[in-house]
Amino acid sequence: MALIVHKYGGTSMGSTERIRNVAKRVAKWARAGHQIVVVPSAMSGETNRLLGLAKELAPAKPGDAYSRELDMLASTGEQASSALLAIALQSEGQPSVSYAGWQVAIKTNSAFTKARIESIDDARVMGDLNAGKVVIITGFQGVDDNGNITTLGRGGSDTSAVAVAAALKADECLIYTDVDGVYTTDPRVVPEARRLQTVSFEEMLEMASMGSKVLQIRSVEFAGKYKVPMRVLSSFTPWDIDINEEAASGTLITFEEDEQMEQAVVSGIAFNRDEAKISVLGVPDKPGIAYQILGAVADANIEVDVIIQNLSKDGKTDFSFTVHRNDYAKTIDLLKEKVLPALGAAEVAGDAKICKVSIVGIGMRSHVGVASKMFRSLSEEGINIQMISTSEIKTSVVIDEKYMELAVRALHKAFDLDQA
Ligand code: ADP
Ligand code: ASP
Ligand code: MG
Repeated sequence: MALIVHKYGGTSMGSTERIRNVAKRVAKWARAGHQIVVVPSAMSGETNRLLGLAKELAPAKPGDAYSRELDMLASTGEQASSALLAIALQSEGQPSVSYAGWQVAIKTNSAFTKARIESIDDARVMGDLNAGKVVIITGFQGVDDNGNITTLGRGGSDTSAVAVAAALKADECLIYTDVDGVYTTDPRVVPEARRLQTVSFEEMLEMASMGSKVLQIRSVEFAGKYKVPMRVLSSFTPWDIDINEEAASGTLITFEEDEQMEQAVVSGIAFNRDEAKISVLGVPDKPGIAYQILGAVADANIEVDVIIQNLSKDGKTDFSFTVHRNDYAKTIDLLKEKVLPALGAAEVAGDAKICKVSIVGIGMRSHVGVASKMFRSLSEEGINIQMISTSEIKTSVVIDEKYMELAVRALHKAFDLDQA
């Protein structure tokens, strides 16, 4: 007998028929003698629908007074799908109980719309599991110290599932979704993308942070911190396939580097359209410039990603960086109002139509020429690189958004990821 956490995403929970299918699959696992906790997402489209209603009343701005209410609102999507799943399980003859995040005390901080989990009380859940029930816990949400409902950021049910698995010391966390694992890149963009049987935790972390939305980055961070065995697999296989076959399917996130020895230098390609580029032009080239610009941005709680500073010419330089697209207008205003006058810089320019494409692989540690191969491949497609950033196991470039798919396809081919 094992304790296993199942997470089902929005598409997997997308209709009563699909919920019925999830219930049959979960009941199969329970009948096999396992203790099962299920963390569902809201039915697909529901979170967008709810947030869209709020937007009709008032456009959302992070940090707004009503972000508390946005969480109150968005959390209802998961509450509904969890209750529906419990009903479906009970109708299959499988004892089951559903809980909202606050009822099993998934405690978070108070950062509404992007809260972080601080603790989970496992007593109530363990009691139900030991009484033979399947326990369903809403994904995406928690409760702060003042009893306010919080949510964990878009895609946050992945993080709920891994956090619950860590708290319960589960044997495995199975992330059921609408693809049958983690691919070399998004299979919706590159049909030739291949499923990886295993991916190292470090690579998964880079891929998620570089934009692969198959897993929310915080879920991967949690899995790494608490060494939660984690697998991404399909909820669209027939529910009654052999349980051992199902348990070995998909992509396993591994913590052992040795298992990766056979793998290619580049394991995956990630892309992200959520960023925008900002340049401060004609900045006097003297100590403290980066601090004056980025300090002001950080003080406004805006996260900065890729940064470059040009060589100076006649004592002046240009300074560019990227921010989340949602923070673009706010950052430009801030720089114009507060930073330009104090800095004596000439101008602020921006471009919201950019994207970031990254190649990721732990093999990059021990191979030279990987980045140059990336640059050659992009130049052969006539794609201009605007910014570059690297870490030990990834190289990212910022390019014009209109070339994103072309770049991803070209790189996928150049690094032989099309080949089995
Ligand atoms: P869920 O609702 O189950 O959480 P998501 O839409 O959040 O599902 O994540 C699954 C989607 O992630 C896939 O449908 C796929 O388009 C996308 N995706 C992006 N990058 C990858 C990748 N490298 N491997 C697999 N899927 C990816
Ligand atoms: N329902 C939430 C969202 O759409 C959380 C999730 O699906 O993981 O972002
Ligand atoms: Mg998701």
